[in-house]
Amino acid sequence: MTGRGRPEATTVAGLVLGLFDLAWFLIGLVHQWAHPIVGWIPLPFGAALAAYACRRVTRRGDLARATRRFWGQMGLACAALALAIVSNAADAFRGGEPTQWISSRTLAIYLLILGVAIWALLRLPAWQRTRRDWFRFALDAGILLLANSAFIWHYSLRKIDLWASQTGSALPTVAISLVASISMLTFIKVVFAGAGELDRRALHILSWGVAASAVSGSVSIFITDRPYLSTTFLAAPLAAMAAQTAANRQFHAAQEAPGAPPPARHAGVLPYLAAAGMSALLIAVVAPGGGEVLTIVIWAVAMTVLVMVRQFGMLRENGRLLRTVDANLRQLRDYQAQLAHQVSHDTLTEIPNRALFNDRVTAQLADGQPFHVALLDLDDFKVINDRLGHGTGDALLKVVSRRLHERMRPTDTVARLGGDEFTLLLPGRTADETAVLMRELVAAVQQPVLLHGQDMVVRISAGVTTAHDGDTPEELIRRADVAMYSAKQVGGGRTTWFDPMMDKLADADAQLGHDLRQALARDELFVLYQPIVELPHGGLAGVEALVRWRHPEHGLVSPAIFIPVAERNGSIVDVGWWILEQVVHQAAAWEREYGPHAPEKVSVNISARQLGEPGFADRVAALLRETGLTPYRLVAEVTETAVLGTGEALDAVHELHGLGMRVALDDFGTGQSSLSLLVDTPVRVLKVDKSFVDGVTVSSPQAVIVDGLIGITDGLAIEAVAEGVETAEQAHRLHAVGYRYAQGFHFARPMPPEDVALLLDQAPISVTGNLDNLN
Ligand code: C2E
Ligand code: CA
Ligand code: CA
Repeated sequence: MTGRGRPEATTVAGLVLGLFDLAWFLIGLVHQWAHPIVGWIPLPFGAALAAYACRRVTRRGDLARATRRFWGQMGLACAALALAIVSNAADAFRGGEPTQWISSRTLAIYLLILGVAIWALLRLPAWQRTRRDWFRFALDAGILLLANSAFIWHYSLRKIDLWASQTGSALPTVAISLVASISMLTFIKVVFAGAGELDRRALHILSWGVAASAVSGSVSIFITDRPYLSTTFLAAPLAAMAAQTAANRQFHAAQEAPGAPPPARHAGVLPYLAAAGMSALLIAVVAPGGGEVLTIVIWAVAMTVLVMVRQFGMLRENGRLLRTVDANLRQLRDYQAQLAHQVSHDTLTEIPNRALFNDRVTAQLADGQPFHVALLDLDDFKVINDRLGHGTGDALLKVVSRRLHERMRPTDTVARLGGDEFTLLLPGRTADETAVLMRELVAAVQQPVLLHGQDMVVRISAGVTTAHDGDTPEELIRRADVAMYSAKQVGGGRTTWFDPMMDKLADADAQLGHDLRQALARDELFVLYQPIVELPHGGLAGVEALVRWRHPEHGLVSPAIFIPVAERNGSIVDVGWWILEQVVHQAAAWEREYGPHAPEKVSVNISARQLGEPGFADRVAALLRETGLTPYRLVAEVTETAVLGTGEALDAVHELHGLGMRVALDDFGTGQSSLSLLVDTPVRVLKVDKSFVDGVTVSSPQAVIVDGLIGITDGLAIEAVAEGVETAEQAHRLHAVGYRYAQGFHFARPMPPEDVALLLDQAPISVTGNLDNLN
């Protein structure tokens, strides 16, 4: 990912200038072909271009600070180089005729440059850690320094007198030699120690350039007879080109992931090169003398070569071994990373799980910045799972998790708690912004999903809470859960914010649930029966059993309050069964006593949870056998939502029908009513909800529906019962449009079984409006 397209103009310019001067120097070795000033002119510009390239790297904000600092210092060094060159040129033409004389000013700047570069390089972090690493480094460095100093001594210092007489001072030679040695050391350190977070290749280019530049500075001795030349023509372009190329490379390099440091490297072939160089020098020095010494030297060199070859082979073998170990280690690390991922992520959706979510919430709490936590739960997910299978359920969860994830910021977290529950960690938003996001999320999830070739719409409910000081992840999830729950209670498909009132309600709810479990044992429940009458005369057509609870403290508690509580905490199963036993025994008693005049229909409300209990229909069958009640007289009142709820409930309804019981669809019109239900389920009775009956006397949509429904139920041979009839006017109107059955306070309130017996005793008699009642 170096992202390099066409080379930039500055790069090309830098190369052209640099190569020009190298050529200038080489040609100059043969003859002087133009005024020496021509050679000096491009030099400062090359250095300036290199300085520009280095400074540019410091603007890359994504690089580590140490890296940017390093390039900043290199830029400084290059700028100083431009200055040094100008000063150097001024020295060269000081006396009119070109010389190689170097002023102490120029020398000081050169030394400064090298100082900055070396300082910057040495400050780079090294990777060697063990003593053995350092020992090997020292050894490699020693070898190279020895070879280097041998050359410097032989070619430069040895003839210092000659050089000093040419240039006026021995100081430059000594200084340059010293600097060459130090830069060599730096170079070894870089090659050996690695680049830290710098681009490796860039650093290598740079250190080769610096080394070449330093070494070329020490060849002055060969050109003392050509005063119009200068080693600056070699040293400056080499340094500038290396710096510019390296900086460009770093600028375009992909950001290196700060991870494990690269393994410590050997200076590789360098010690061998040094040894080879020394051998060559040795032969070159001894060769003119010839004779026995030369023979021995050649043998010694040959033996050194053999030993080196042997060692080199062993090193390579070791290298191979190391690489295998490295590969194994890397595999192990990958495996560990994989494990860590598995522990913190949900396997199905690949998003974070509860553990990671809790960690992030804990970190966020420690951070002290305000944030929100949301909990989302699909509405009726169980239905989808039961009806369409777990494969479809899983696919749906993946879609939902993706839709949530897509709308998150990088700082947000969406996690799956399990089942169809998702949680969100939302930092850095105001309450209003969070509300907007939640609306978007709920809407996004509710877009149709294509699953198994079928468009499906799922709804989701969400609860949100704001984090406060002293919160824990558990507490936040709990509050979001309470809020989500309240969203479900008002119909779902929406977001609700947590309100401390909810906790109070939930507490009361929990207390009521607790009391309810004891109500059965304490005999606090009893059943009333509300007559269902035949229109228009009000003759008793049946009764609906309605449970009551005489609470020791709260007095009479409405089933509208405690039945939902019982459904939530599961006690409806026991309570419902107790009611059913009461009702069936009562109905059987009436049947025995009044025979054909007993209530023809005894309705009992059955909740979804009861229907879903395994073996429910079997227990009912046993109860019917035990009491001897004619099954046809027993009507199971179920709601649309209960039947639509789970596969088990629908099965149970069919089984009850199979026993010979009748099934009534209760509260028709309030749920997600669908007329197809009337065709698909064995419904014999339809109870039209009070909310429709209320509007029947005025012209209203309800009235239209009430009118329309009767046509449908008649057509399907289903009995329609109008619920909650409170006035004579409603009764008349209902009768007028075709209703044959009604129930409501206008006729009778729910009453104890003894009062029903009184009615039966007077039979056949109209119940209309002449009854004392108890509610
Ligand atoms: P529901 O099954 O729709 O029962 C009819 C409700 O309407 C009863 O309320 C009844 O008293 C009331 N009602 C009847 N006529 C009128 C009227 O003219 N005006 C008004 N305003 N109300 C009328 P109740 O007894 O309070 O029961 C409320 C709900 O509690 C029932 O609605 C039913 O869903 C549930 N419930 C009651 N008893 C049982 C039971 O034994 N088992 C189960 N699972 N649920 C029950
Ligand atoms: Ca009912
Ligand atoms: Ca009803």
